[in-house]
Amino acid sequence: MKAGGLKRRVLLQGGSIALMLGVHQIARGASILAVRVWPAADYTRVTIESDARLNSQQLVVGSPPRLAVDIEGIDLNPELRELVGKIKPGDPYINGLRVGQNAPKVVRIVFDLKQAVVPQVFSLAPVAAYKHRLVLDLYPEQAVDPMEALIAERLRDAPRTSGGGSAIAVAPPATAPAPATDPLGDLMAQQSMRPGPQSPPPAAAAGNDRPVTPPPPVVAAAPARPPAPSAPTVQPPPPVAATANRTDRIIIVALDPGHGGEDPGAIGPNGTREKDIVLQVAHRLRQRINASSVNGSPMRAFLTRDADFFVPLGVRVQKARRVQADLFVSIHADAFTTPAARGASVFALSQSGASSSAARWLANKENDADRVGGVNVGNHEAQVQRALLDMSTTAQINDSLKLGGAMLGEIKGIGARLHKGQVEQAGFAVLKAPDIPSVLVETAFISNPEEEANLRRVDYQENLADALMRGIQRYFAQNPPLARSRQL
Ligand SMILES: [Zn+2]
Repeated sequence: MKAGGLKRRVLLQGGSIALMLGVHQIARGASILAVRVWPAADYTRVTIESDARLNSQQLVVGSPPRLAVDIEGIDLNPELRELVGKIKPGDPYINGLRVGQNAPKVVRIVFDLKQAVVPQVFSLAPVAAYKHRLVLDLYPEQAVDPMEALIAERLRDAPRTSGGGSAIAVAPPATAPAPATDPLGDLMAQQSMRPGPQSPPPAAAAGNDRPVTPPPPVVAAAPARPPAPSAPTVQPPPPVAATANRTDRIIIVALDPGHGGEDPGAIGPNGTREKDIVLQVAHRLRQRINASSVNGSPMRAFLTRDADFFVPLGVRVQKARRVQADLFVSIHADAFTTPAARGASVFALSQSGASSSAARWLANKENDADRVGGVNVGNHEAQVQRALLDMSTTAQINDSLKLGGAMLGEIKGIGARLHKGQVEQAGFAVLKAPDIPSVLVETAFISNPEEEANLRRVDYQENLADALMRGIQRYFAQNPPLARSRQL
């Protein structure tokens, strides 16, 4: 994105950049307090925190791709120099950077990029524990498509899931290959051809199985399709006609680990961060979902974030809708004003006020995530998202209450205390997908020392994931997923 309206002249000489920047306001005496880098596939964020608002100007340079940012009113200090060492080799966008005092009171950072980016640079006023923040978000020119990401992940996993090598190498069916118009349809076709763990075991419906570790290799129970003779083929099977598989579909459950990146969520008395715990729980639940099926239809988990970076609330909803998720489960572990508060609770959306003042308080707190995490309110996408968030429906809320009820029953079953015996309702922004049953699970209060300790324990997280999985299965047993053809 161009730094619009700036008067500047750019000189490119032998690959080096020279900028002559126009007249600007200078923030006086600002000093840098901290710098943070949050690399992720969606985008990489660089945050520069200071004790006064910073002015900056930026310039994107083509080949090789670079981004130069001049920050005015500051001197180079040790905190800023640290930025160089904070770039990780795995960063999808930043190769490295240089930082230097470009002129009196002007520090220049030059990012050497791995690919062309569309930067969004904006300032955030002090909020929560943060002072002023200058945020540099580096987005790819072509946004990451959640559906494609899901398919890529599915394909990546497929050979591994086949384990002993018996499953994926199935002889191509007699039907003629059809034009590949629907990647997910192809996936579904491949899926249905694949014997093994995914085929519904006789008594799996009760959901008492705990597929944490993959089941031992068994002879695939698919006599109609003999497995290929020997070595696993590296090549995935060719796209096949979906004729025999039209009725098959993949049930997608969107898992939404709360917070992330600049937004740590609640922090326990011993320093446990909500954003870390909820991502771990989401990973455990994902394992279970990916190993399960509903009436023979395989399930697949989709994570709205799978790393430690910030995802705005509206984007979480948008991603879930993009993959046409059947359910949306937001996972949290919040704090309350008093350490005595404890217990799990499950929330659905409310269109008409909260079911209790505690629910309202919590919804307000969760909805604050965008301010803490840092949203560029000026951009077009943010406005589109806000419009989207006012389309919630009564039907969605009714289904969400059923899903929440099923989960609450199971959480109770593992002996976790319940904060409230019923599903509560409030205006959580992240639950506003108009067409997806959506719940927010507060797994426990991280502000309670005992529950904080529980949340860190592997067995507790496993039990929690089991309970949530059983709740999902119980919901589907009573509310079978509708037939739906996914179109890209
Ligand atoms: Zn939370």
